Amino acid sequence: MLKIGILAVQGDFAEHKLMLTNLDVNTVEVRLPNQLENIDGLIIPGGESTTIVQLLDIFDIKNAIVKKAETGMPIWGTCAGMIILASSLTDSRPTPLNLMNTVVSRNAFGRQIDSFEEDIKIDAIGEPKYRGIFIRAPMFVEIGKNVEVLAKLKNNKAVLVRQKNLLASSFHPELTSDTRIHEYFIKMIENQIQNKK
Ligand code: GLN
Repeated sequence: MLKIGILAVQGDFAEHKLMLTNLDVNTVEVRLPNQLENIDGLIIPGGESTTIVQLLDIFDIKNAIVKKAETGMPIWGTCAGMIILASSLTDSRPTPLNLMNTVVSRNAFGRQIDSFEEDIKIDAIGEPKYRGIFIRAPMFVEIGKNVEVLAKLKNNKAVLVRQKNLLASSFHPELTSDTRIHEYFIKMIENQIQNKK
């Protein structure tokens, strides 16, 4: 049975955990480097990216996450998680992990009151459209080599991208009851395990 780690230092890790439990996947809350052993994939949830990165430093787990990503472990960042996976930010804080070939602007859709929902067409998961929930969401301002855009908003802004084993969404699939993006991530993990064999 698959085991997916959820970075659980701050933010809405509990909601991801519930989604995965409903899909019959084992989960582990990850705070310390050794908790990255024996997991098949990792989710970095939404929350406050500056706080999450500070805690990653305190728990001394940054390098271990980068190493796991480099060995091909699937990692999915949602919202703050997408900020943390980026190569650089338009803000001076936090320092991201530089894993994806993306430049990200934090809070680029506006403040908390500008949070919004939109139905998004995502070919990778099929019909019907997916209800995206955007809360002080980040925006991709540059998308570099090897990064595939899986979904865009009506205004043409990319909101779901993939670079090999890494997935990033500016919205919050864990706040809906639609499990299709979690299932897509689970398939990424299953394929990765198959390819390793
Ligand atoms: N605005 C937050 C940040 O910059 C991200 C918001 C979220 O994860 N919903 O970290």
